[in-house]
Amino acid sequence: MPVTKPHLATAEAERAAAPLAVVALPEIEAAAAHIAGRVVRTPLVTSPALSRLCGQPVHLKLETRQPIGAFKLRGAMNAVLALSDEQHRRGLVTASTGNHGRAVAYTARELGLAATICMSALVPSNKVEAIRALGAQVRIVGRSQDDAQAEVEWLVAEHGLIQIPPFDQPDVVAGQGTIGLELVEDLPDLSCVLIPLSGGGLAAGIAVAVKALRPSARIVGISMERGAAMAAAIAAGRPVDVVEEETLADSLGGGIGLANQVTFALCRDLIDEVVLLSEAEIAAGIRHAALVENEVVEGAGAVGIAALLAGKVSLHGPAALIVSGRNIDEAMHRRIVSGAAA
Ligand SMILES: *Cc1c(COP(=O)(O)O)cnc(C)c1O
Repeated sequence: MPVTKPHLATAEAERAAAPLAVVALPEIEAAAAHIAGRVVRTPLVTSPALSRLCGQPVHLKLETRQPIGAFKLRGAMNAVLALSDEQHRRGLVTASTGNHGRAVAYTARELGLAATICMSALVPSNKVEAIRALGAQVRIVGRSQDDAQAEVEWLVAEHGLIQIPPFDQPDVVAGQGTIGLELVEDLPDLSCVLIPLSGGGLAAGIAVAVKALRPSARIVGISMERGAAMAAAIAAGRPVDVVEEETLADSLGGGIGLANQVTFALCRDLIDEVVLLSEAEIAAGIRHAALVENEVVEGAGAVGIAALLAGKVSLHGPAALIVSGRNIDEAMHRRIVSGAAA
């Protein structure tokens, strides 16, 4: 059985303070067994329109069908199930206000655990309410994401809460990688996977699974032109700071962490090609998803569709696009679909 292991250049490996955590096919298969029945095994549906456009069969992996509307449930659920009973009793904490925050809140509720989501006073009330509705405790602190993260670290240090990271953790990556197993099962002649790329947990997990089972399949990571942290890190050969900018693909914003342990090396080694998209291209992806595919898709979830519409990826066989999430502000969705925005 082929097992993909990340490799570091020797000098780099010597400099690394902690040993690089390895995620390979066995960890992803174990994750699939653990989360089975607790997350949705999502459908892979054919897009006749995109297939016609590209001259190859194009399929959409609808992670929008997860109960929280995004794939992040897979990684969070797997990471929380891997904790001990004693850790479960301490409760979960994270600073994410987006899909990862929803995933942690949902997971806690399903497993009967306590969850605290820290957020700044500047987070819009609809996001606060979405997390509260899932039964999590919301803690409003400070006026920035950094303030919220500092609160998380204080709760971990002083009260022993367990932080669930959004991407840079082996159990999270293995959970996201279960998508790759399902893709190969549903589409045995898979030749290319288009994956939204931010912190790289989704891309790393899927790439490990797909490259292990279908070594010739191409992995394409897709980000926005505005503040693509993993693309900048791969280009620089190490994690770098990027300026965060507003984008329609808001779930793809944020850095990968300068002390990145897991996802940077995996993405650097396993992603064949990174594609960057303009805001107008992302808007066209959201619009196509709504009007042609009949799917409400948020900006981050529409980048695979957008990349094909923009002619930025050429296909040479059956392809799968990860439609990663559907959580977009309703009014903004209406504006984009009507053609009024971007
Ligand atoms: C988090 C997220 C991504 C990116 O996942 P990473 O593991 O951070 O690369 C893509 N799409 C949606 C909808 C997300 O919530």
